[in-house]
Amino acid sequence: MKILVLNAGSSSQKSCLYEIADEALPTQAPQPLWEGKVNWTQDHGVAEIEVKTATGAEVEKSISGESPEAHLAYMLNTLTNGATKVINQLSEIDLVGHRVVHGGQDYRESVVITEDVKKAIADLSNLAPEHNPAALSGIKAIENILGEVTQVAVFDTAFHSTIPDAAAIYPGPYEWVEQGIRRYGFHGISHQYCSARAAQILGKDLASLRLITCHLGNGCSLTAIKNGRSIDTTMGFTPLEGLMMGSRSGSIDPGILIHLLRYCNYSVEKLDSVLNKASGLRGISGVSSDMREVTKAIAQGNTRAKLAWDIYVHRLCSNIGAMLASLGGLDALVFTAGVGENSPEIRQAACEAFGFLRLKVDLKKNQQQPVDEDIATPDSEVRILVIHTQEDWAIAQQCWQLEKK
Ligand code: ADP
Repeated sequence: MKILVLNAGSSSQKSCLYEIADEALPTQAPQPLWEGKVNWTQDHGVAEIEVKTATGAEVEKSISGESPEAHLAYMLNTLTNGATKVINQLSEIDLVGHRVVHGGQDYRESVVITEDVKKAIADLSNLAPEHNPAALSGIKAIENILGEVTQVAVFDTAFHSTIPDAAAIYPGPYEWVEQGIRRYGFHGISHQYCSARAAQILGKDLASLRLITCHLGNGCSLTAIKNGRSIDTTMGFTPLEGLMMGSRSGSIDPGILIHLLRYCNYSVEKLDSVLNKASGLRGISGVSSDMREVTKAIAQGNTRAKLAWDIYVHRLCSNIGAMLASLGGLDALVFTAGVGENSPEIRQAACEAFGFLRLKVDLKKNQQQPVDEDIATPDSEVRILVIHTQEDWAIAQQCWQLEKK
């Protein structure tokens, strides 16, 4: 079965093609046959397209002008033409899976995309303005380019639909509940994938485990997972809540917002932009939203960068503590995504804070770029895993499972 995955970001469309045997899913993520990316972040109106295949062929091209759909069509055209050709015709693709950030309260698992599903994704755009419209454009473009192929929506919120009301409902007026203002949680595809992979690495039944998964990328969130189900998470109604992130503030006193609106001439747009783009590591350090740059600046004696680091670690630890309380204990702490997978310093700082749980990180293993490995010492009472998140593969798996139902 050939499954094409599309992962739409605010300014990029990533895609990959997997071939999976009809009989069974492989136990580990296979390499995709083909990977493509359209990036719209450079000059306005210019699309940078990068394609590579499992056999090492690569194509790069910039296209100016034309529509985003034409850019996507160009990228998909490389599946059947030129150096990166991996299939003879697009009709060989059996399924197309899309990452859709927001599925609201109704979509608790992956679904085949119908007119109703498209309408729901569009209606939820005000809750995920950067992402849901981008996913919808991808879905429509595939309809135009591939015709009748079955498309599947895999929602980032779905995994969190099991969070109990006490953790999901905000203590505002009850009308909020009726208006759908509640914790949805995000990064669900990654948290779910990492929980399943953690069980595999530990050789344990997922249903017996209490896990905290730390997805630390540009956006950061934690999830408390018990018996394979999400029971609490740090992101909320929007991806702005919770941990300090690259350029997002995470949780702050809501009274600050009232203060800024009332006394500091802030418009809603300015508030949005400050909290999402000019806060977090970038806002405090004044250096960058990228943890690597912040770390470099600390080494050069930059005190604001050091403060940004300290706040990041403090908030990571206090939120791990909150997840611990929801779980009532811990079998494994899992680190994933850009920072979680690549920063031994952040992992060490977080782990040392929980030494009182007899959680002990093996400092040598922690430094050796672990991938899908347990980096706890043998006598640690809690396992510590570093897992390479594979969201695209998780989407392909869910498509395969839906097809086999
Ligand atoms: P996204 O959340 O956009 O999917 P990623 O999960 O790829 O992003 O994470 C990107 C972030 O990972 C970068 O902004 C950077 O801060 C961080 N990162 C990547 N490599 C390293 C590294 N070696 N050390 C520390 N941080 C890193």
